[in-house]
Amino acid sequence: MSRSAHPAGPRYADVLPEGHYTAPPADLNALDARVWSRTVTRDADGAVTVGGVDVKTLAEEFGTPAYVLDEADFRARCRAWHEAFDGRADVFYAGKAFLSRAVVRWLTQEGLNLDVCSEGELAVALSAGMPAERIALHGNNKSVREIERAVEAGVGRIVLDSFQEIARVAGVASRLGRRQGVLIRVTVGVEAHTHEFIATAHEDQKFGLALAGGQAAEAVRRVLALDSLELLGIHSHIGSQIFDTSGFEVAAHRVVGLLREVRDEHGVELPEIDLGGGLGIAYTSQDDPREPHEIAKALTEIVTRECAAAGLTVPRLSVEPGRAIVGPTAFTLYEVGTVKPLEGLRTYVSVDGGMSDNIRTALYDAEYSVALVSRTSDAPAMLSRVVGKHCESGDIVVKDAFLPADLAPGDLIAVPATGAYCRSMASNYNHALRPPVVAVADGAARVIVRRETEEDLLRLDIG
Ligand SMILES: *Cc1c(COP(=O)(O)O)cnc(C)c1O
Repeated sequence: MSRSAHPAGPRYADVLPEGHYTAPPADLNALDARVWSRTVTRDADGAVTVGGVDVKTLAEEFGTPAYVLDEADFRARCRAWHEAFDGRADVFYAGKAFLSRAVVRWLTQEGLNLDVCSEGELAVALSAGMPAERIALHGNNKSVREIERAVEAGVGRIVLDSFQEIARVAGVASRLGRRQGVLIRVTVGVEAHTHEFIATAHEDQKFGLALAGGQAAEAVRRVLALDSLELLGIHSHIGSQIFDTSGFEVAAHRVVGLLREVRDEHGVELPEIDLGGGLGIAYTSQDDPREPHEIAKALTEIVTRECAAAGLTVPRLSVEPGRAIVGPTAFTLYEVGTVKPLEGLRTYVSVDGGMSDNIRTALYDAEYSVALVSRTSDAPAMLSRVVGKHCESGDIVVKDAFLPADLAPGDLIAVPATGAYCRSMASNYNHALRPPVVAVADGAARVIVRRETEEDLLRLDIG
């Protein structure tokens, strides 16, 4: 079989996983608006631009690999979430998806609140001026020091995750003479993944206190008995990369059930329900996520209906999208180093990054798309696998992709939808230098997180 006669080979169906699209897209040069950030277009020369800046210019100026973040898109998504609820919900951006000081400033300006789940994330948030009362601290094993820093700073809420932690946070708050706002994280027995969810009676996981068996109700009892804690409400987070709101429906039903029990037992109506994050985004053209206003409408209706049935005043809602805000706003820009066709199988395209800048493919079998962005091509499609430069055969960035058959070393390719859980999960494996995050807007690019240097590596290694 010759590659020029059958560039992608006749055997897509044999080498692609079941359920994967088996035909190349009609136009390899097209950029699907669902997977690329809002300001991405091709200019007259065929090179891709973002925020009005050519990717070739970005590569020359900042090097590759680099995460390129579309600031206008990020801000637009913040606004869309903020406005979707008509002021009836608070939106907490989940900082673990990607956090930097520039991002904190954008969030602050766009009216969003912020979830942090470590001292490090809290430090970044505070240093960039996020008002402490707009910060929530999460985590299943917060250290006493983390709790102290958070209470001292005056964070608006701490999300309690265990019985020990109720005592720990109460201890810190009373020592510091504070009354700390808290939520209790409950597990509702819903496991949600992309297109389906499973409702169970109990959950086998490390987070939260189970509704089933009365753990959550006992947690409420203990918190209400402590003067140093102010119970704001109940928190539930059911999963990630979710497209279907039916999992939230079951969660809301069960959380409202607890609110009713609390009212009946203690005569208290808790003022808030936090339904967590986990809303899905498009990584490939196969994905079709809901818009924030659709999700807001669905969640508001669910909670309103459940509360009416339970005879409760509708509490204030909180949501915590991370991926759905930052995920689609960035792509990773790579330079192609080697192109290795494997007869009858696929072509391995090696780039100058890999699992150190995107662990999600190896970790979660995540799917991504990829495009040639430094030029257009009329060459036929070639079934490809984009791999990194690490000493690990699982070092795959895009498992199954079509790229033009004339792809060559020096070409720039980009993997869209890498804004969430890529830079924040990046590692120094093989002593790779973690890539910079370059923000682009209105024809200008600036580094918001710089590339690591050898000095950074050697500074940590004190010999
Ligand atoms: C991770 C996490 C989120 C954000 O999840 P996304 O999938 O990024 O939206 C929200 N809330 C909690 C408690 C989380 O752990």
